[in-house]
Amino acid sequence: MSETSETFDVDLFVIGGGSGGVRAARIAAGYGARVTLAEEYRVGGTCVIRGCVPKKLMVYAGRFRDEFEDAAGFGWSVETPRFDWSVLKRRRDAEIARLEGVYDANLTRAGVAVVPQRAVIEDPHTIRLVGTDERVRARVILIAVGGHPVKEPVIPGAELAITSNGVFELESLPERILVVGGGYIAVEFAGVFAGLGSRTTLLHRGERLLRGFDDEIRDALGEAYAERMDLRLGRTVQSLERSEGAIRAVLDDGDSLLVDQVLVATGRRPNVDGLGLERVGIETDGAGAIPVDAYSRTAVPSIYAVGDVTNRANLTPIAIREGHAFADTVFGARPACVDHRLIPTAVFSTPEIGVVGHNEDVARRLCGAIDVYKASFRPMKAALSGRDERILMKVLVERATDKVVGVHIFGHDAGEIIQAVGIAVTMGATKADFDRTIAVHPTASEELVTLRVPAVTKHSIAAG
Ligand code: FAD
Repeated sequence: MSETSETFDVDLFVIGGGSGGVRAARIAAGYGARVTLAEEYRVGGTCVIRGCVPKKLMVYAGRFRDEFEDAAGFGWSVETPRFDWSVLKRRRDAEIARLEGVYDANLTRAGVAVVPQRAVIEDPHTIRLVGTDERVRARVILIAVGGHPVKEPVIPGAELAITSNGVFELESLPERILVVGGGYIAVEFAGVFAGLGSRTTLLHRGERLLRGFDDEIRDALGEAYAERMDLRLGRTVQSLERSEGAIRAVLDDGDSLLVDQVLVATGRRPNVDGLGLERVGIETDGAGAIPVDAYSRTAVPSIYAVGDVTNRANLTPIAIREGHAFADTVFGARPACVDHRLIPTAVFSTPEIGVVGHNEDVARRLCGAIDVYKASFRPMKAALSGRDERILMKVLVERATDKVVGVHIFGHDAGEIIQAVGIAVTMGATKADFDRTIAVHPTASEELVTLRVPAVTKHSIAAG
């Protein structure tokens, strides 16, 4: 006999109050489900507490340096600007606390019971609350525990370094900082610290930053960053040690750097340790993530997982969509799954990057013949500011169908632009659709609808 909802304390128990868990809990409660959510740290999760939101506030802070410098070309004289880390920290932390309160209130208003403690799985329908040792019986369990930063590979002295979590706890702006990593988190924080005035070294073992992004965008970022900071590519850190009241980083080429902080941003791992997965027979994959089907169901029929813990696309909007689709499917009788193929995304480096669709290499592999439309130009503002900067835009078009299969933007506001372009690309826009769109003048993004002639590339020459 199948168990009815009467035999359970709740219909849904959500482990983790981050982007995915909060959305799933609210939507399921909206369908009338009795929902409890456990959060062991702070409601809002990585994105709100120590990810996207506080990071973006710091990105804004770092970018004022360029604004002050550029203003002179437009007739402004600005007294030597001074930056006070303690003001930024206080105001940023207050905003995060406000948002945490909003998330908490929204959950309560939706009828979700929030339990501020760690939860682990005992069996396919039982949760144990670690703080109070209480058991809760749930018809469905949703694992939305996210991930945590790791310092990999492990090197001697690694304990001297901080991770992205530690950035939000720093009490002062480091005078000299070494950022290790080549992914978006390393790139973004290196940009922030350079903007705020730290002498910044960004060190990455690869030859280019941002693996997986379009190579020309990666090169453009590398060039811009080499102007803004000490960029060391193809290098690794061998060890860290205390020296002269600071930290000495010994590099593989024998060079060494004396810095005040080392930020290791080389990767993240799902939060599965001690969660009780082995008790229910859920095995994790090589990355430590929980395998799920298209509806986010694990190998155990009553247990689902969404967000970073499944390592599908580790971004907030994806965790939110997965949480929403799960709730629609399981509690709304509206089966829904998330299409992970087309994800518009931004990197908040300075200058910024916005991307939707394939990079050029992938487009060539998957679409056969493609046309590459490209514009590289100096933004209008630079004419007076005198700043030596360029914007790069690429539109990749599948020749057989005229469909736009990739758009890549490097430059100011790329994240804002790509969100709107993402609508067109998601709708299946063709190059002809881009061409008949009237330009907005004078803007940088008008280039996207005025690209007339495909670029001559080594591939087009080879194809004759
Ligand atoms: P999380 O938001 O990590 O939430 C999981 C929650 O579960 C946490 O609050 C944790 O405390 C809790 N938890 C874990 N285990 C337990 C347990 N056993 N019991 C109770 N609670 C538990 N994404 C973007 O889209 N844009 C960005 O600009 C961006 N910037 C980022 C910058 C940084 C520095 C970082 C680290 C991440 C960034 N991300 C960004 C990624 C984004 O934050 C994550 O993809 C998103 O938060 C994933 O949501 P989630 O619900 O899967 O997990």
